[in-house]
Amino acid sequence: MFSEATIAPFKSSLRGEVIEPGDARYDEARKVYNGMIDRRPRIIARCVDVADVISAVNFGRENTLRIAVRGGGHNAGGLGVCDDGLVIDLSQMNYVRVDPKKRTVLAGGGALWGAVDHATHAFGLAVPSGIISTTGVGGLTLGGGLGHLTRQCGLTIDNLLAVDMVLADGSFVTSSAKEHPDLFWAVRGGGGNFGVVTSFLFKAHPIHTNYAGPMLWPLEDATEITRWYRGFIPKAPRALSGFFAFLTVPPGPPFPEHLHNKKMCGIVWCYTGPAKAAERVFAPIRKFKTAALDMVGPMPHPVLQTMFDALYPPGLQWYWKADFMRELDDKAIALHVKFAEQLPTMHSGMHLYPIDGKASDVKNSSTPWCYRDAKWAQVMVGVDCDPANREKISSWARDYWTALHPHSAGGAYVNFMMEEGDDRIRATYGKNYDRLAKVKKRYDRANLFRVNQNIKPARAST
Ligand SMILES: Cc1cc2nc3c(=O)[nH]c(=O)nc-3n(C[C@H](O)[C@H](O)[C@H](O)COP(=O)(O)OP(=O)(O)OC[C@H]3O[C@@H](n4cnc5c(N)ncnc54)[C@H](O)[C@@H]3O)c2cc1C
Repeated sequence: MFSEATIAPFKSSLRGEVIEPGDARYDEARKVYNGMIDRRPRIIARCVDVADVISAVNFGRENTLRIAVRGGGHNAGGLGVCDDGLVIDLSQMNYVRVDPKKRTVLAGGGALWGAVDHATHAFGLAVPSGIISTTGVGGLTLGGGLGHLTRQCGLTIDNLLAVDMVLADGSFVTSSAKEHPDLFWAVRGGGGNFGVVTSFLFKAHPIHTNYAGPMLWPLEDATEITRWYRGFIPKAPRALSGFFAFLTVPPGPPFPEHLHNKKMCGIVWCYTGPAKAAERVFAPIRKFKTAALDMVGPMPHPVLQTMFDALYPPGLQWYWKADFMRELDDKAIALHVKFAEQLPTMHSGMHLYPIDGKASDVKNSSTPWCYRDAKWAQVMVGVDCDPANREKISSWARDYWTALHPHSAGGAYVNFMMEEGDDRIRATYGKNYDRLAKVKKRYDRANLFRVNQNIKPARAST
């Protein structure tokens, strides 16, 4: 606990709340999305504006506290919270402002994607994000941002125009292609290493109603479907995306009873092109193999973005393992099918997200996100509501990953990783790591922001 003399000036400097152990709100405030994470910070500062963030950063630095920055709290490894330190909680900084004329969107550092989709949809616009609307804008953007619109519009970072940030010394900067360009390069994939982002400015796209939804096939057809999918997607029009999944059908509506609890493979499609062309675009897909369940049809963008929210409420146990894949050869597909047959729980699964199309137009060195030449971001997630199944879901995901890793490109999408050590972080940033370390040294020499996939500041001589 802090002495009153230490904590009182900090509390009175904030317009937001300060929550400490013993406070009735403490246990709720320290929870993050992954129920496996159980950390007990010394103090939680719920900031409501930039001034609060400046106070919190200064308080953390002056009291040599470990600092975690919380955006949406979704991070797999629970990097939005820490033991025995300060949590700078941005969840109250959740505003979204759309400029329909300029087609730009300003979102607070703690906004969730659902809020962005809601605000932009009214103007027939969308910003590329992920596939679950409860994910934070902060962490997803700073790590890259993969989702339904990646093939058409690029990663989320490819649509980022500027950020407002509070740096380790408490100073405030705006960073864009013109202002602090080195910092702007680094935040587009380098995570929360460089400061607290208090707002994000995005470019939005005219996207309103898609032709979208899942198609499911029996697991017995998985080899055939996966082989077809690996050839089909890279040649498909950019307005069409589809991520591949192994899954277990949830036992309830809208799924027909005969499919309940069945292990299946599926593709979740999203076509953003003209409605009149949709049936034609999907004709070869439907011709290739009739799906056991075809739920693809016209769908407002926010409906697609919220489709899986109810299936994955906060508090489930999650264990993640991931890799980038340059190809999906037959041996890798055989291993995938083997582990899909062993899916340990209804919520567990494997996804392959395409990273070609517009995302691959950007050079590996143009942002820290240096696997633009890979074809897929692969992630195995062991998920369950029962903490007793923690080992079961973790060992399935670990074994699955271990079998597939030799077929991978090396690193993994940083937002799909747990805390996996320096070697994995280096593999993930590849040739861009040294440049990130130099920017880190310039903006956060003492590594104040280290509760993240941490980039170590370059040594003094570099
Ligand atoms: C169910 C689920 C589905 C997902 N789907 C996708 C998907 O489709 N596509 C995709 O790309 N990713 C996806 N992710 C991964 C997601 O991008 C990461 O979990 C991301 O870290 C979440 O961001 P957050 O702000 O919610 O998390 P937090 O836990 O709050 O933060 C994560 C990290 O980002 C830092 N951070 C957050 N906000 C800020 C800020 N404003 N300033 C500085 N640092 C900040 C934190 O310090 C921490 O290191 C998914 C995750 C989950 C749990």
